[in-house]
Order: sequence, then structure tokens, then C-alpha cells
Amino acid sequence: MPPKPEILAAFEAAKGFMPLDEGLALHAAAEEAARLALPLLEVGTYCGRSTILLAAAAREAGVTAVTVDHHRGSEEQQPGWEYHDASLVDEAVGRMDTLPAFRRTLHQAGLEEHVVAIVGRSPLAASLWAAPLGLVFIDGGHTDEHATADYEGWVPHLAPGGLLVIHDVFPDPADGGQAPYRVYRRALESGEFTEVSVTRSLRVLRRVPVAA
Ligand code: SAH
Ligand code: MG
Repeated sequence: MPPKPEILAAFEAAKGFMPLDEGLALHAAAEEAARLALPLLEVGTYCGRSTILLAAAAREAGVTAVTVDHHRGSEEQQPGWEYHDASLVDEAVGRMDTLPAFRRTLHQAGLEEHVVAIVGRSPLAASLWAAPLGLVFIDGGHTDEHATADYEGWVPHLAPGGLLVIHDVFPDPADGGQAPYRVYRRALESGEFTEVSVTRSLRVLRRVPVAA
């Protein structure tokens, strides 16, 4: 089922980097993955735009969405760079801080109860993690270092039959950075994943269930 109108309204109102068609594909993946009755994990919370969709699907299925971000912004979101938003700078410390905006987004969507937010670096959080996951959504740092660490840190926790979703996959370098595309290729070439859907730059892959 598509997200409820109030969820879509909250999604549209939230700052972030996901168009509606990709958001609907993410929500559909989250709905499917939530049937495994395992948590859904996002790397790259930013202001919660995509988190809302994971959380709405999690709520319907009675599971939890977990979202990880240090909330200091990626390289391209720093002052002077293309995706900088000056309204997200904490003047007291002189750094980006997307945590307050994220909390407002989640509150306005009525989804606080269904989300656990981890504030910290993705590889460090992954190193402490031990539970199986129904979905891993990689939308954090877009350098090779970050995208690779997200893949290596979280994908081992993805349950068989679970979904790996990767954002900002651009096969043509003219369209964007290549790190998420390289992670996507790596997943496919591992032989452990089959492709489920392609929506603009959003790719959904399924971890092949283990043979009996
Ligand atoms: N999913 C969001 C957009 C995420 S933008 C949306 O749909 O709107 C990428 C986010 O990843 C930024 O907020 C940045 O702070 C975070 N990030 C980048 N590298 C990270 C890392 N190594 N650990 C944790 N968060 C990271
Ligand atoms: Mg993205």
C-alpha cells in the first residue's frame, strides 16, 4: 500500500535529497522487508525525509526503524559546497547540526515511537551492532571510503531474503559520484544479491536466501 496522505505530506515538507518517485520505491521496499519482522536500518538520516518512509512501513508491520548519522553533514554539505544549507549550522559550535530538524520532522509525522536514532559515525555504530536486519538503506557519505565502510559494516547483518537499498547510484559519471555505484556493482558481483527494482538512482537488491 502507498504511504498514507499525512505521511506523504510530512515527507514533502521535510528537507532532504529524495524525490517522490524514489521515496515511493523506498517505502515499497520497506513494506516488503518489514514482513521479515526484523528492524530496518538507514545510514544517512539528515533531516529525516527518507526516515519517515521507513518508519511508516515499520509502524504498519510492528518493527523498528533505526537511523544512523553523525548529523555534521557530508563533505558536499559543508559551507561553500553545492549542497550546503546555512540554516542547518549550529552557530554556537560553527558546525552543521541536522539533529534538531530531524527530530522536528519525526515529531510532525507522528513517528517518534517507531524510530531509534543513533548519533555517531556509521562504521563505529556498525562495529557495535549484532542484530539481524530486514533492510539496509545506504544513503550516507558518498566518498568511496564512506560508502565502502557502510557496505562492509552493515551488509553482514542483513538477513537472508532481506533488502539492500542504495541511493545515488549513477552508472554515468556525468550524472554524479561513482562510489554508491561501485558499492552496487560490488553487491551484484558478490553473487549474494538479485536486483528487485530500479527507480531513478535508487536500487533495491535482495539478499539471496540461503539454500536449504
Ligand atoms: N537520507 C537523507 C539524506 C542523507 S544525506 C534524505 O533522504 O534526505 C547524507 C547524510 O549522511 C548526512 O546527513 C551526513 O551527516 C551523513 N553521513 C555522512 N557520512 C557519515 C558517516 N560516516 N557516518 C554517519 N553519518 C554520515
Ligand atoms: Mg541520497
